[in-house]
Amino acid sequence: MERKEIEELVRRRITEKLKRTGKEYIVAANWKMNMSAKETKRFLDQMNETEIPQYLKTIIFPPYPYLYIFQKMLRYSRIAYGAQDIAKEEKGAYTGEVSADMLADMGCSYTLTGHSERRGYYAETPQIVGEKTKAALAHGITPVICIGETLEERQSGTYKEILRLQLDAVSAEAEINSCIIAYEPVWAIGTGVIPKMSEIAGTHEFIHSILVSCGGASEKTAPILYGGSVNEKNVNDIASVDYVDGFLIGGASLKAESFGKILKLLSVD
Ligand code: PEP
Repeated sequence: MERKEIEELVRRRITEKLKRTGKEYIVAANWKMNMSAKETKRFLDQMNETEIPQYLKTIIFPPYPYLYIFQKMLRYSRIAYGAQDIAKEEKGAYTGEVSADMLADMGCSYTLTGHSERRGYYAETPQIVGEKTKAALAHGITPVICIGETLEERQSGTYKEILRLQLDAVSAEAEINSCIIAYEPVWAIGTGVIPKMSEIAGTHEFIHSILVSCGGASEKTAPILYGGSVNEKNVNDIASVDYVDGFLIGGASLKAESFGKILKLLSVD
């Protein structure tokens, strides 16, 4: 397919989906442990000058220390922001943790839970992810629950069991269809490798079927974002896949120019 045809297909898909579901299309940025205060201010200055269509829900997840800059600079902006992690406990002797109440105080309306780097490097079990998700919802913060399989799990064909387990553990604790799901194959994160479009389509459809089995009416299930090496070159192709309701973007969200270009590519008007 020609690039122009792909762009047209993306526009049509996004427009149809928005009309059908009334949902917002979500583009989220995960900065991980990157950026300085100065870079954050410059980024937000640039973003405040970027035109973002009404239906594109843009969310940025900066490191904790920069949340105050977001609170100050995004007061009149439609750009939302959130934390990369959240404590499962309410308050007390939990050195280094940041509670849902504190995040709400900083104006966070979203939080990531279960990012594969937290599951992998900080031993967060599916149950802990469920508890963190529950804590966020209890304080009016929408969790973006990251799920995904390793390359070994994809190649051995056990990935569906893994995804189901990750979703079930959250569902046991919280109303999963009040959250946002980010499908992020671990092998695609930061590697420049993305799954085949047919793999993304099959996996998103599978996740959608689990969300329906968790009680979501087919059109009212939690949005499912795709994450893992998304950039300006591949975003349109992935956006044309069914059941892709937006993106979670790491590396390509660190520069306002490339993040802005991605938002522009997803703008239908
Ligand atoms: C992520 O880690 O959430 C992510 C999507 O990273 P990247 O886009 O850099 O692969």
